[in-house]
Amino acid sequence: MTRLPEGELHSGRRGVDTHEEMMVQSRPVQHVVVVGAGMVGLSCAWHLLKRGADVTVLERSTVGAGASWGNAGYLTPAFVVPLPEPALLREGLRGVFDPAAPLALDWRPSTQKAMFAAGFLRNATLRRWRRGLASLTPLNAVSLDAFDELARDGVAVKTRVCDINVGFRAGESAAGLIKELEEARRAGAVVDWRETEPRRPMSSAIETALVLNGQRYVDPGATLDALANAIRAGGAVLTEGASVRSLAFGPKGLRVDTWAGQPVLADAVVLATGAWLPELAKPLGVRPTIQAGRGYSCTVPLDEPLPAPLYLPGVRVALTPYRHGARLAGTMEITDGNSAFRSERLEAIQHAVRPLIDGADWDNVSDPWVGPRPLTPDGLPVIGATKMPGVYVAGGHGMWGLTLGPVTGRLLAEQIMTGRAAREAIPFDPQRRSWITRSPQFSDRRGISQPVPSPCPPEEGRSDVRATVHL
Ligand SMILES: Cc1cc2nc3c(=O)[nH]c(=O)nc-3n(C[C@H](O)[C@H](O)[C@H](O)COP(=O)(O)OP(=O)(O)OC[C@H]3O[C@@H](n4cnc5c(N)ncnc54)[C@H](O)[C@@H]3O)c2cc1C
Repeated sequence: MTRLPEGELHSGRRGVDTHEEMMVQSRPVQHVVVVGAGMVGLSCAWHLLKRGADVTVLERSTVGAGASWGNAGYLTPAFVVPLPEPALLREGLRGVFDPAAPLALDWRPSTQKAMFAAGFLRNATLRRWRRGLASLTPLNAVSLDAFDELARDGVAVKTRVCDINVGFRAGESAAGLIKELEEARRAGAVVDWRETEPRRPMSSAIETALVLNGQRYVDPGATLDALANAIRAGGAVLTEGASVRSLAFGPKGLRVDTWAGQPVLADAVVLATGAWLPELAKPLGVRPTIQAGRGYSCTVPLDEPLPAPLYLPGVRVALTPYRHGARLAGTMEITDGNSAFRSERLEAIQHAVRPLIDGADWDNVSDPWVGPRPLTPDGLPVIGATKMPGVYVAGGHGMWGLTLGPVTGRLLAEQIMTGRAAREAIPFDPQRRSWITRSPQFSDRRGISQPVPSPCPPEEGRSDVRATVHL
């Protein structure tokens, strides 16, 4: 494998490498193990296969067991912005005392949560939010094309082009969301919206509505199945029930140890374990803390089909057409990724939505689900090399790992197979310090250091962009 040029990224541990490490670095990449079969891991596996690698996917439970199965299914690059906002943290603190709050902070003390909260607070300024947005914009711009690429390659992923409706109650204002969309446009995104009359299934409690054109949605479960089937048909081995416990160098390359079964040998490894990423990645120099922000969903039958996705910002719930009704998804519970399912959270979602939509059969709610969004303190994913030669991470996409999964797979596969990180991937360096104030830098192809371009003028101060869409 070709190593990254010195200084282009944090390419690895400095100092004397062992013989086995040097073997890994000099070996061409043939066999890659991907750990985790969520949207991000499966997307990486697909792109590695496409670039000619032999791929093994190890999943400790089943395909989509983490956050990727029961989510809202929105593919809405227009909404993909960094999460950190001071207003959100304040809302989270209120949620300590109110189990029905859409944002909730688990009150039990933990170093992980304290580090996340400190990093989040530090990043919650308008200047940093804009810088994060500038980093995400190139990814957002090609995120839907990356879905089309899957379809062109014969993966049976069906995206549906749609408008997204946003409904506001009396006293709620669209101004925050419009400001956020204007910021996205200033950063280079193509975003179109207009005000409209509320329409079914919005109830009379919804007074104003916005419609966002040209977005898409998918059935997340069907999407994962399609990817898993395509990967298997492409020759990859996908093993469920294989929980990875450690990585080591061996005489024949990297050795991936699982709790049961034989170790698997590899030339490169991708850790795509969602909210559980720190378990394996933290000792490998991945600096941003990854914190679970758990969300809940369920399905409610409707008397008429939901024509398009509907977002209700006042209660922070997303509705998506699903089977004979709508999937309802919401809540951000900052807690341990393995905590018990809390039915009161799902009840709170239903209670909040009940007066806002008509025609729902609340006696026949099904598919209760919880999944952990992998959140980072700066609201940016981690995509790239760790300090352990040959080991990469892909994750931390927070609320948008479904939308950004395929483009992430494309970028990381390119880096692994060519040894060069694409320019757009540089802000997502897993070894970045997510709390550093100075501009993120990258080296251009000639090795000259450049700041990450920002289309917005520098401006300090607390963010007043308070409308971040929570999915
Ligand atoms: C309620 C809700 C709504 C959402 N709505 C949207 C949306 O509309 N659009 C959007 O783009 N995003 C949405 N998201 C976010 C999206 O679901 C996540 O960002 C995305 O699923 C993360 O994917 P992932 O592959 O990184 O992680 P995951 O899907 O969590 O996958 C990680 C996998 O790794 C496995 N694993 C963990 N540890 C190990 C180990 N040691 N060995 C082997 N396997 C391991 C896990 O079992 C899991 O299957 C939503 C999230 C929630 C909770």
